[in-house]
Amino acid sequence: MIDFDILIIGAGISGSVLARQYAELGKSVLIIEKRDHIAGNCFDYYDKNGILTSKYGAHLFHTNDEEVWEYVNKFSTWYPWQHKVIARVDDKTVPIPVNITTVNTLFGENITTEREMQDWLQRNRVAFDNPKNGQEAVLNRVGEVLYDKMFRHYTKKQWDKYPEELHASVLERIPVRDNYDDRYFSDKHQALPRGGYTKLFENILDHPNIQILLNTDYFEVQERLGCFEKLFYTGPIDRFFQFNENLKEKLEYRSINFVREEIDQEYFQESSVVNYPGKEVDFTRIVEYKHFGDQKSGKTSIVKEYTVDKGEPYYPVPNQKNQEIYAQYKLEADKLTDVYFVGRLANYKYFNMDQAFKNALDLFEELEVENVENRVH
Ligand code: UDP
Repeated sequence: MIDFDILIIGAGISGSVLARQYAELGKSVLIIEKRDHIAGNCFDYYDKNGILTSKYGAHLFHTNDEEVWEYVNKFSTWYPWQHKVIARVDDKTVPIPVNITTVNTLFGENITTEREMQDWLQRNRVAFDNPKNGQEAVLNRVGEVLYDKMFRHYTKKQWDKYPEELHASVLERIPVRDNYDDRYFSDKHQALPRGGYTKLFENILDHPNIQILLNTDYFEVQERLGCFEKLFYTGPIDRFFQFNENLKEKLEYRSINFVREEIDQEYFQESSVVNYPGKEVDFTRIVEYKHFGDQKSGKTSIVKEYTVDKGEPYYPVPNQKNQEIYAQYKLEADKLTDVYFVGRLANYKYFNMDQAFKNALDLFEELEVENVENRVH
């Protein structure tokens, strides 16, 4: 039996940040991780052609939060990377988020100014004062034709739900631009870690007070663990309460089936991510990793993403029904002392990476404010 102060379940963003913070406070930390690697869904590796590839889909870091930016810079150098996405719509290729080029290309318009684009949007949008769901959110911004061409079927493929069955916030993640800006995000800091995300996590976890048990399912070893002060759980919240008779309703999650193809040519597509918002194919997008950081190789590989029900949970499904089920789990979670639920799966929230960093840092701050102050003074 190992003695330690802090037990953390999961070595993704939330678990790794908390581990590091407690380790620096002088606490001994044990992380239990089910998978055979650290870094959660950010895990990346070099493939046989030497191309840095993410195992669980492309991860693009972007933030406006200076504290988070400063924090991640302590553990890696970062190079600026403005992510761009294009979509194949009908027989055309257009930027997503929708911008002037998207409208000109799809509708043969000749818009050149922000004013003209605003007028076009104004003429086409279907106004909703307070969009109640994803469909209203998109109609309110771009109107019916673009909704149908670029959002309706993509969303069905991604969530197995149409936009009207999802919170407005899901579709509101994607802005609409009245200019030529073709970046996917607008945040002040947009960057990728030099050497990859796995290296970043290795650096976060590189502390003598941190021990990691890989290939270990917490629920199979929990009886054999010693005493500890606090437990941080970052897995799916419903799995934690799997034997609780009061909590029978399961939360929905979406997983992704990543289908990889090796291609014996230099490039497959003109951009790292190409979305396929139509019904003609079942996958949502194709990612060609060598574009990230302009990696060089005579060969390439691509990954088609098919979003599916079964498999490891990646996405919570934000809608009213799941929020109600989650609220029941949260009630139980709040009754526990010294057990904290943190991260995308445990909080059942569609966090971006920077929000996951922020939440873990904030939780630590909230719990340990006095200890941190004592240490500093
Ligand atoms: N979306 C869409 N068409 C697109 C891209 C996104 O309809 O070409 C919708 C879809 O519902 C998706 C949501 O916008 O789930 C958020 O997209 P984002 O790219 O943020 O999803 P993620 O990268 O997290 O999978």
